[in-house]
Amino acid sequence: MSYKHTKIWTVDKNIEREECSTSIEEAALWIKGGELVAFPTETVYGLGANALSQEAVAKIFLAKGRPSDNPLIVHISRLEQLEGLVIDVSEDARKLMDAFWPGALTLILSASDQVATNVTAGLSTVAVRMPSHPVALTLLDACGVPVAAPSANLSGKPSPTTATHVQRDLDKRIAGIVDGGPTGIGVESTVLDLSLPEPVLYRPGGVTREEIEAIVGPISVDPALTDTDSSPRSPGMKYTHYAPKGTLTLVRETKKIRELVEADRRSGLRVGVLATRGERAVYEADVVVYGKDSRHVAHSLYDSLRRFDDAEVDVIYAETLPEEGIGMAVMNRLRKAAGGRIL
Ligand code: AMP
Ligand code: MG
Repeated sequence: MSYKHTKIWTVDKNIEREECSTSIEEAALWIKGGELVAFPTETVYGLGANALSQEAVAKIFLAKGRPSDNPLIVHISRLEQLEGLVIDVSEDARKLMDAFWPGALTLILSASDQVATNVTAGLSTVAVRMPSHPVALTLLDACGVPVAAPSANLSGKPSPTTATHVQRDLDKRIAGIVDGGPTGIGVESTVLDLSLPEPVLYRPGGVTREEIEAIVGPISVDPALTDTDSSPRSPGMKYTHYAPKGTLTLVRETKKIRELVEADRRSGLRVGVLATRGERAVYEADVVVYGKDSRHVAHSLYDSLRRFDDAEVDVIYAETLPEEGIGMAVMNRLRKAAGGRIL
């Protein structure tokens, strides 16, 4: 699958939902017609296809090189669209939708048989989310159909948080990109399974565990999130993600990072450091990215990983951060990027 050009529509990130622009209308027509169009959400850029068309959805797997057993999240802009997608909306589901939709929470619910089987990878459940980004909502309204959209990167690469990231990975592999500027949160949505007797967190993300528990009480967490020996309940979590080219190691102590940086540079390696606690420690590495708090680290995480790749560093050291709030999602992504290496 290859296109002569990938069309870019530059749109205002604060677009009024009622005032659909001609760019958005064209992008929506392309999606409805079975083409792939990337668009910004508040988490990361998504790669959209008409979720009711098996053929359109198949193009997502091809363009990304995504394993076919990894199901997709269906994006909607109105609650009425749940009808036809899911068969039962429990009380917990209603409460969570009230509290967090539109927003960065994906709910796994029992699927209706109208959902294309390649969207759910043949599972009896479907993942659904209503994003809050004004461009995403306006585009979804204009599409009128539910839109399946995984992150708009090549499988295995860090998720895209700018249109340039999408272009780098998918130029000429997809029909178009709606450029609404950099995304806000910077890590993917939280994935919560509500199809079981009790809610289970599969992937920490933009909506925090604490926020969810404030609405539905204590939830359990897929053991695979912390124990690398157990297999994840969510198919996508078993794949190596976000891996930068340089070898990434998570390091708890600032002093240890300083020593490692010094030793590696002496032996001629190019070194990158991802500092998550602001500029409290100064590192003499080739590339240093400072994040001032967990939210800021989340916002620029994938851009930082791509910057290390661009600078062709051989090794990367990342400071750890507390696993609370958005820190849980950041540490989850960093642990995966580090392949479990932690000192
Ligand atoms: P992505 O859209 O690339 O951020 O990935 C979506 C995530 O949601 C992946 O980890 C999927 O495996 C997960 N997911 C989607 N649908 C389901 C489902 N029906 N059951 C469990 N996990 C799902
Ligand atoms: Mg992804």
